[in-house]
Amino acid sequence: MPAIFFGHGNPMNALADNIYTRAWAEMGRNIPKPEAVLCVSAHWYAPAVAVTAMERPRTIHDFGGFPRELFEFQYPARGSRKLAERVSELLAVDVIMDNSGWGLDHGTWSVLCHVFPDADIPVVQLSINETQPAPFHYEVGRMLAPLRDEGILIVGSGNLVHNLHAYAWGDQSREAFDWAMRFEQKARELMRSGDHEPLIFYEAMGKDALLSAPTPDHYLPLLYVLGTQQAEDAVTFPVEGFDGGSISMTTVQIG
Ligand code: ZN
Repeated sequence: MPAIFFGHGNPMNALADNIYTRAWAEMGRNIPKPEAVLCVSAHWYAPAVAVTAMERPRTIHDFGGFPRELFEFQYPARGSRKLAERVSELLAVDVIMDNSGWGLDHGTWSVLCHVFPDADIPVVQLSINETQPAPFHYEVGRMLAPLRDEGILIVGSGNLVHNLHAYAWGDQSREAFDWAMRFEQKARELMRSGDHEPLIFYEAMGKDALLSAPTPDHYLPLLYVLGTQQAEDAVTFPVEGFDGGSISMTTVQIG
């Protein structure tokens, strides 16, 4: 099974039909059908590592200021107790049994509703431990790698470049900022050559990196996906583009 990092961008993509959503749908048709999905979303950024284990995870509308249609959106994928237990075995983490603890947030459902529109693949979420430094997240990815041989699709959902402060509100087609473009190119070169070290210690990559990932939440899901990479895996970028000049919509596929 491949491992995929999706640049999710605007939650409205859930309802949209655009170049990104069409490409996500095509990816869903092209990859082998997984047993279940394990998703690390930028939007479950919590003080501990936890995994969802409820039978029917709720659709969480974790945002404000969007149309009612988006708040009414439901992604009814089931959970997977079996996968949650397997993850807990690999990582020794908290298992969230109840919907009051979490569910599926928009980092997960705004993309998966296009990749798996029938919601017929069980989905489990893993939280990002906000108290841990970047190398920790890469290491968790390495520990999860065996799941790829067990039919599990590991997904990271964030954005390689995510700077809302610079975002051109109302001008989504704005050309990417120079620093965003440079960081994106550099990151791709490193991924193509399998040189993960600078990507793990991205904060040391200079000003372009700090502007591209001013907070770690949307960048870190990439490290989980890179952590699963094996020697024989190809690295491809099936979706690319910038939204509002400062949000990279790049998808990274490993394997
Ligand atoms: Zn987001």
